Amino acid sequence: MDQPESESQQRDEADPGHRPWFHIPPAEGGDYPEAAYLAGNSLGLPPRATRAELLADVDAWAQLGVEGHLVGERPWLPYHEQLTEPAARLVGALPAETVVMNSLTVNLHLLMVSFYRPAGQRNRILIEDTAFPSDSYAVRSQVRYHGLDPEQTVRRLTPRAGEAHLRTEDIVELLRREGETVALVLLGGVNYLTGELLDLPAITTAGREAGAVVGWDLAHAAGNVPLRLHDWGVDFAAWCSYKYLNAGPGALGGVFIHQRHLGRDDLPRFEGWWSTDPATRFEMAPVSRPPAAADAWQISNPPIFAMGPVRTSLEIFDKVGMAALRSRSIRLTGYLADLLDEIGAPMVTPRDPQRRGAQLSVRVADSGGLTKRLRTEHGVVADARPPDLVRLAPVPLYSTYHDCWRAARALADLGVGA
Ligand SMILES: *Cc1c(COP(=O)(O)O)cnc(C)c1O
Repeated sequence: MDQPESESQQRDEADPGHRPWFHIPPAEGGDYPEAAYLAGNSLGLPPRATRAELLADVDAWAQLGVEGHLVGERPWLPYHEQLTEPAARLVGALPAETVVMNSLTVNLHLLMVSFYRPAGQRNRILIEDTAFPSDSYAVRSQVRYHGLDPEQTVRRLTPRAGEAHLRTEDIVELLRREGETVALVLLGGVNYLTGELLDLPAITTAGREAGAVVGWDLAHAAGNVPLRLHDWGVDFAAWCSYKYLNAGPGALGGVFIHQRHLGRDDLPRFEGWWSTDPATRFEMAPVSRPPAAADAWQISNPPIFAMGPVRTSLEIFDKVGMAALRSRSIRLTGYLADLLDEIGAPMVTPRDPQRRGAQLSVRVADSGGLTKRLRTEHGVVADARPPDLVRLAPVPLYSTYHDCWRAARALADLGVGA
């Protein structure tokens, strides 16, 4: 590889992220003490601030017992409300449209209870053929729940022959042609496998014009690319907080429900005591009074110890801002893309920075074996999607140009692109 190491280090000096805010795992092998961690699209790294925040919540429990619901620095009853505004800012939503709760697939189910309402010939769900398996299973089971046949009802979008990604114009055209059979469009904003960023506003508009409901799975988009869910008119969305949001394994997810659906009493929802207006929650009334807010989709009282890490994470996003993060992300991932071109590694992700987020996917012979050697021999942590994809995601908060350089050199050493 021609690109000198010193050049990557100069770039890091000129364009640093916020690496000191994070714990970086040690390298398992290679020439450097820290891992070149490029798997933040799978599990983000822990902010250093998380530990103290988490312990403060445990200490409040020790000090206050049951009173902690009502008193202390962060009383538990309204605890989730602290997460609402920063989560709303992250995805471009109004606070009333947003709530942090549960995990991603659970939330997709709760949202489909409200927003997948098959009626007559309008009964199909559109997903990508490369949808994450959990999403495929979720939509198939929802279809069966309505007594329909998933083979007839779930339509999987595939790229044109010989192409690796979906084209917006093909999706829009399909919605024009067959839109009256589509009840729900449920796509990934950034595809977990190819790293393709879809044109969310165009597809949302086309889906809604066709009379369908449009929901987005933002697992790989939240904290990765700027989002304006309210302005784009998205019906609903859900995301997780353990990938680009760094809130820890299995962290709580977030949901968005557009303002036009809030307070609708014709929409079915599954309810529990957290669905009702908090002002009347402890009246223990037999009938709920749901607020005109995404909060109405909550069911149980939430896990407080899981919320601290989400709060810490969202504070970081507020401090740095998605616009600044996105611009460093475009530079950082662009640098890795140039290095991959230099070594001749076959990239599956779109070349256009506007059509991708941080992640680049590379086609290799044996992704499992290669990823293991990257980690153990070079200290480069990537993510294998067998049989033949390796995903590399420089995360603008903590990844470095030097990490990208190490990854490209290691791939070249292991014969990728040769
Ligand atoms: C990561 C991911 C999931 C994971 O679902 P959980 O319910 O959080 O376990 C689901 N869908 C997509 C698209 C993902 O990327």
